[in-house]
Amino acid sequence: MAEELRVVLRNLGKINPTKIDDYLDAGGYQALEKARGMSKAEVIEEVKKSGLRGRGGAGFNTGQKWFFAHSLQVEEKYVVCNADEGEPGTYKDRIIMENDPHSLLEGMAICAYAIGSRKGFIYCRGEYPHLVQTLKNTVAQAKEKGVLGDFDIEVRMGAGAYVCGEETALIESLEGNRGEPRYRPPYPPVSGLWKKPTIVNNVETFANIAPIMEKGSAWFAGIGAANFPGTKVLTLTGDVKNTTFIEVPTDTTVREVIFQFGQGITGDKKFKAVQIGGTSGGFLPETLLDTPIDFDSMRKAGATLGSGAVFVLAEDRDILDVVTRIAKFFEHESCGKCAPCREGTMRIRALLEKINSMQGSKEDVALLEKLGRVMAGACLCGLGQAAPTPVITTIHHFGIDYDAKIQ
Ligand code: NAD
Repeated sequence: MAEELRVVLRNLGKINPTKIDDYLDAGGYQALEKARGMSKAEVIEEVKKSGLRGRGGAGFNTGQKWFFAHSLQVEEKYVVCNADEGEPGTYKDRIIMENDPHSLLEGMAICAYAIGSRKGFIYCRGEYPHLVQTLKNTVAQAKEKGVLGDFDIEVRMGAGAYVCGEETALIESLEGNRGEPRYRPPYPPVSGLWKKPTIVNNVETFANIAPIMEKGSAWFAGIGAANFPGTKVLTLTGDVKNTTFIEVPTDTTVREVIFQFGQGITGDKKFKAVQIGGTSGGFLPETLLDTPIDFDSMRKAGATLGSGAVFVLAEDRDILDVVTRIAKFFEHESCGKCAPCREGTMRIRALLEKINSMQGSKEDVALLEKLGRVMAGACLCGLGQAAPTPVITTIHHFGIDYDAKIQ
């Protein structure tokens, strides 16, 4: 039996999130104190040794990312929390911010100390207006108590663009420009906000930092999968009996997530497919359900862990219908800056509509695959690179559904 383990959600239901004293009584801000008693290099080494990898979807080693900014002798540096949780089916960051917003601030403040920054921003999703006020109150309380020292945090609100979850589009938006991605390199840890070294981390990543500083890197590295240690907050949606969020060690399998925590398929129907990591994630069939939910195992299975959304489809769902809806979403959200994404998302949607309305051919399916490969390699940012993933993985695993719509 797999079990939940609450590291990120350690205070959920135990404290009143609107009261800093509750967080302090639960041991809050002690990890920050501990970090400030260590050298900056020691803090970074501890985060590196823990093996923590980014929880926004890319799985980059967090300590390594911090090291890039830490090692630059620049007066101005920034810490940015990416709270622009736009991936459909994903609401893990909302849960964290609603229930334990100080844990996010503490992680940011530890990062600020380690890299030598005095200014931070939280870029909150425009569709979470209630959280903007929560976060502002949280920052005000922390400032009043003096726990943040000389580190200042500003809360900014997004305006509903999915692409602004991409770190360089987010940075452009913070600077007051149109939210479009930049060419990388240089990567933000070297040149980000106003061309200064900038660490952009996801909410869940920052929420892991205080427990790591408090309990040590060895403790964290011992949880879950060796190459992607710790826990993952997952959001279960679709045809599961129990649509919920859970926090589990990263060696938990997809089958356990769906059939144990999700309590199986609604109406006791048969399982058909699961999409992991939100709309940009891959679809897995029954035969791959024993894949653990760690980043690398997911990659090997041809899927992505992404933001941790788990979207389940029962036997009677029409895969082509679902994938066509997803394609419409990407066409709508493409910012249009690069041609492969601007044109590609539109072509994918059109080809899928053609196949879905029984007008397609085998050549159209082959074209979809070719287009997907080109986009994965040629698009400027993660939006366009990942947009074909649902199509490619469904052609691969559910080719029979495509064949059924081709006359
Ligand atoms: P990436 O692998 O290019 O970069 C990951 C992080 O590491 C970035 O912060 C980047 O600046 C840093 N980095 C990488 N190489 C570096 C280098 N050489 N030097 C310094 N820093 C370096 O991935 P990405 O494009 O940032 O993100 C794509 C991911 O986002 C996708 O896997 C997708 O699953 C995920 N995503 C998440 C959501 C969500 O709602 N959480 C939505 C859409 C996509």
